[in-house]
Amino acid sequence: MSVFSHAEFDQHEHVAFFHDKQSGLKAIIAIHNTNLGPALGGCRMWPYANDEEALCDVLRLSKGMTYKSAVANLKLGGGKAVIIGDPHTQKTDALLHSMGEFIDSLGGRYITAEDSGTKVADIAKIGARTSHISGVMACNEYGGDPSPTTAFGVFVGLKEAVSYRLGRSDLQGLKVAVQGVGNVGFRLANHLKEAGAELYVSDIFSQNVERAVSQLGATAVSGDDIFGLDVDVFAPCAMGAILNDQTLKQLRAPVVAGAANNQLAEPRHAEMLRDKGILYAPDYVVNAGGIIDVYFQRSGGSQVDLASHVAGIGETLHEIFDRSEADNLPTSVLADRVAKERFENVKSPWQAPCSVTEDDPAATQSYSKSA
Ligand code: NAD
Repeated sequence: MSVFSHAEFDQHEHVAFFHDKQSGLKAIIAIHNTNLGPALGGCRMWPYANDEEALCDVLRLSKGMTYKSAVANLKLGGGKAVIIGDPHTQKTDALLHSMGEFIDSLGGRYITAEDSGTKVADIAKIGARTSHISGVMACNEYGGDPSPTTAFGVFVGLKEAVSYRLGRSDLQGLKVAVQGVGNVGFRLANHLKEAGAELYVSDIFSQNVERAVSQLGATAVSGDDIFGLDVDVFAPCAMGAILNDQTLKQLRAPVVAGAANNQLAEPRHAEMLRDKGILYAPDYVVNAGGIIDVYFQRSGGSQVDLASHVAGIGETLHEIFDRSEADNLPTSVLADRVAKERFENVKSPWQAPCSVTEDDPAATQSYSKSA
């Protein structure tokens, strides 16, 4: 198994493998980039078929976190952790404590949070061995679950995309199709309803559809019919790879803006969306409310500060849309470009204690004081 020459390596700063015989823990932590701050990203537990699959996943996800945090203007780098194992049968307190010790050994360069296969309670157990965690019931006003903030961020992004593509600032009577009305999708639908939008929803879990119909007056749509609706906005809030050859043939909405991660099945689908005149609000820009919330949980700050930071999603999208038009390139390409501009060639002061030199007496003094 190669690491430095791995297809997904992309100049990672640090990739650490960990094994603990007693608890059975096998884990990998990947830190992609810490120019802006410590690497924050979830800890996924999954029964990977082999080590290569786990490495591939952690490298890809870790890089994604660098881009997401940078584009969201956070003082955070990108990282991710994977535990190799079945979360239903192999997750024990000893294993989570061991994971906490592993994370602690990195001295705060990586901060963990929940992800697929881990819950808030698991992160709290990891937190028994390290303070480098976030997204648990914190001693501030936000609590652990970032979904409400994610939903609000998607709402902000969706409004910006509607304003840009359809030239209207109010959502009264706007027709929106929401695929997946779970934690984020339902809350997004609620914001839309309050703004006067007309809702169409689909979900494979019928109780979630019933809740949206009864509480929000949404129209239920079955399965794949959600793609071909004559609506203004398609909001994917279920799973990834939803913008693909098949669905793009059906899609009629002039705007796509939703919470789901990795919506484009392949990069070329962004080009296809543009050719069809559909404005795509890049997923990791629009759904950054979650990471912004987790950042605020750790750093403190008021609800007002949080809301104003999330409102910045709209400004960033506007820049992406403008530059996409000017450069004649898909919005997803411009999102990556904007993110790169924000994290490349920057060194955050958070790394200062590591770069103290004898030529800098002031820095040396403050460093030795705190040592
Ligand atoms: P969730 O599991 O609560 O909701 C997803 C919903 O989609 C569920 O109700 C599920 O039944 C439904 N669904 C699954 N497959 C479907 C299909 N084929 N058609 C219709 N519905 C389907 O998850 P969530 O927390 O709401 O997250 C939704 C998406 O947003 C995910 O892609 C997630 O990765 C992404 N996201 C979530 C957050 C967050 O804060 N929760 C942050 C960033 C990104």
